[in-house]
Amino acid sequence: NQNCVVIGASHAGVNFAFALRREGWEGTITMIDIDPTLPYHRPPLSKAYLTSVDSIEKNLLKSEESYVKENINLKLGVWVDAINRENKKVVLADGTSLGYDKLVIATGARPIMPPIPGLDTAKNSFALRSAADVANIRKTVAENVGLKVVVIGGGYIGLETAASLKKMGAEVVVLERESRTLARVTAPEMSLFFQKLHAEHGVAVLTEKNVVSIESNGNRNIVVCSDGTNYEADMIVVGVGIHVNKELAEKAGLTIENGIQVNEMAQTSDKDIYAIGDCTFHHNPHYKRHIRLESVQNAVDQAKIAAAAINGKVCAYNSLPWFWSDQYDVKLQMVGLSQDYDDVVVRKEADKENCFSVWYFKGDTLLAVDAVNNAKAYVYGTKFIKGGEKLDKSKLGDPTAEFKPANL
Ligand code: FAD
Repeated sequence: NQNCVVIGASHAGVNFAFALRREGWEGTITMIDIDPTLPYHRPPLSKAYLTSVDSIEKNLLKSEESYVKENINLKLGVWVDAINRENKKVVLADGTSLGYDKLVIATGARPIMPPIPGLDTAKNSFALRSAADVANIRKTVAENVGLKVVVIGGGYIGLETAASLKKMGAEVVVLERESRTLARVTAPEMSLFFQKLHAEHGVAVLTEKNVVSIESNGNRNIVVCSDGTNYEADMIVVGVGIHVNKELAEKAGLTIENGIQVNEMAQTSDKDIYAIGDCTFHHNPHYKRHIRLESVQNAVDQAKIAAAAINGKVCAYNSLPWFWSDQYDVKLQMVGLSQDYDDVVVRKEADKENCFSVWYFKGDTLLAVDAVNNAKAYVYGTKFIKGGEKLDKSKLGDPTAEFKPANL
């Protein structure tokens, strides 16, 4: 009887474990995670789940019974200290160890807490990655009427959290170090749209604000920026990016680049160890380069590939990245990777407010589409990118001109 051990029980680990059973694995499956909560969906943590009063049971990836039914052992609240490749064992924090025939590393990422003086001792200062973070944030909101919040970082998590906290009745300011929000991932048109959207809802999104220290006036935190401005805050939420949890793999001597390097079957430099999800550095055939992605799509797709590969199936990762974000009543859907674009076309849908899409090109090759309240643009964009069909940019930019992928 073979043992498969999975380190990390979140989107990647859980999808892997269930896919492994579906693919016919008859051996044991043991999944270990330091988080004591049954595995849950992370995207809603900054969106609908944050603003709701739901308990985490309403947000689980799988019910408790499903793990029993599929004979998947969960070891929650347990930290994995090391991987011993020679003896094919994982060493747990309590010193015990667990043997494996196949090991899957699905350790994801953790939030960066920047070394800003005063941040570690600031009152009510949280990142947002786990159910416990949400519990802390909700509790702080509930206990403070007219709560003032400073969100450090204007990426998706920062902006979604700002929108949610505003909905919960807080007064929110977002401080972004760059000259625009979402600068790493979208065109200026999209950044401006979101800044305006937040302003309309009464959330100040301030750019070129480099936070240099957190002080206190005895009552509230004072968030101080390099330009001399400062902002009072009862609560600080930090959303400035993530560190990949690659240390276990690194110490075990696996090949590491910008994440744990894996091949098209999600296999690491050790043939019996696979890695999936946010922690991996993998090749994307659509963009012909190695990338690291922070997305549910990638976690799920790599999980399926690893499960098939371990069961001896011939398979290769070939997914087109996609992602979404919900802020207020706006749904943003993104497909493809826009990095390296040299041209954008903005298509506004005639007569529809807050309904448009941004199409990113390199030369005449479509790289990516960001669609705001516009499922059609998202679906068409996906087809165009996958099909490699060339687009008439002038037609695309004309809201009265119909356009459709040939294979639709
Ligand atoms: P993770 O979810 O990071 O899970 C890794 C797990 O490994 C953790 O539970 C951790 O406790 C455990 N672990 C790590 N090291 C150890 C160890 N040594 N011992 C024991 N356990 C360990 N993605 C989207 O596609 N769309 C969205 O809208 C979106 N919104 C998001 C909003 C928020 C607030 C957050 C935090 C993320 C969001 N994401 C979104 C990203 C998405 O949640 C991640 O891409 C996804 O969770 C990655 O899954 P994963 O299993 O690879 O890693």
